Amino acid sequence: MLSPSEARTESAYLSLRGLTKEYGAGPPAVDRLDLDVEQGELMGLLGPSGCGKTTTLRMIAGLIEPTGGTIVHRRRDLTRVPTHQRHAGFMFQSYALFPHMTVARNVAFGLKLRRLPRGEIERRVADALRLVKLEGLGARRPSELSGGQQQRVALARALVIEPDFLLLDEPLSNLDAKLRETMRNEIRDIQQRLGITTVLVTHDQSEALSLCDRIAVMREGHIEQIGTPLEIYERPATRFVAGFVGRINELACSIEGRDGDRRLVCDGQPIPTPPGLPAAARAHAMVRPHHIRLRLGRAADGPGLAGNVVRRTFVGDTLEIEVDCGGTPVSVELRPGVDEGCTAEAGSHVVLSWPQERTIVFAA
Ligand code: ATP
Repeated sequence: MLSPSEARTESAYLSLRGLTKEYGAGPPAVDRLDLDVEQGELMGLLGPSGCGKTTTLRMIAGLIEPTGGTIVHRRRDLTRVPTHQRHAGFMFQSYALFPHMTVARNVAFGLKLRRLPRGEIERRVADALRLVKLEGLGARRPSELSGGQQQRVALARALVIEPDFLLLDEPLSNLDAKLRETMRNEIRDIQQRLGITTVLVTHDQSEALSLCDRIAVMREGHIEQIGTPLEIYERPATRFVAGFVGRINELACSIEGRDGDRRLVCDGQPIPTPPGLPAAARAHAMVRPHHIRLRLGRAADGPGLAGNVVRRTFVGDTLEIEVDCGGTPVSVELRPGVDEGCTAEAGSHVVLSWPQERTIVFAA
């Protein structure tokens, strides 16, 4: 009989088991990490700087040797297989193009290493350049291209070898905001059209939420939660994930009452309380700014927080309102012309409430 984790390994396309990297003294950079990536899936590794994302990706690529654990691709143990025999496509932020070679020769590089016939190399390079919308630019040198075009050459170079999986390390971080969005859509489009299994490293949560099929949120060398973007955002498993992915308010609460009537109380005010509170005296209640309703007035007519507006900031399609609720700062996001309360100004007395199921609770 297979154990549940072995059974998953059997079906996963790419499977990391107990993957560990220790660089020296101190805690491991990657600590017994388990991750299964399904065929055709775009898996994001998301987390703050230094949490071990790049080390994990480079171990999959074969550029860093693990201290422990295994990397299996379709039952083939890759853990000790040299990089060039793993058949992975890389696109790394620092993976510069060869400046003295033309675009076409940069893209052809991996195919020449594999000693493919010239005609086939030319055909595949032309296909790859067409895929990334660079047809006609094969004779230029990288210095004659924009930043976005250079990223596309790097993507073409990774894809042209028809890799088993694609490894992307912060592929968009050198681009400006507008171009990043365009390239993000293009990468997603190409990834889906080719159905290529991809692992993407990013510290940018909006990039991970918009691009990935599933996200593994990492912290200090381990995975805190794996889930779809919606699961990670709406049902964070830990306080760290809740705070790292998307904006959120954190309210220090006590849990008061007993049995069927237990409720969260923040600074003396009862707040919307979901069922199933943890068995604890204190809790962290978290609520996203866009789930909060704001009403002008002084007294709450149900669970909620009364406070004073400290600041209002208009940021395009939303209005951000900072409210001081008896010493606890709370951010609210309203849609002008849609939501109530948009006329609130600095100094206004307001009451905040939200649906109880929008309160995410962690025991303190
Ligand atoms: P970032 O988003 O900043 O790139 P990351 O999540 O990719 O961070 P890693 O680069 O994997 O993090 O680093 C994980 C930890 O390992 C960090 O504490 C880092 O300082 C350490 N580390 C990385 N490379 C080495 C190395 N070659 N020698 C020693 N320590 C290293």
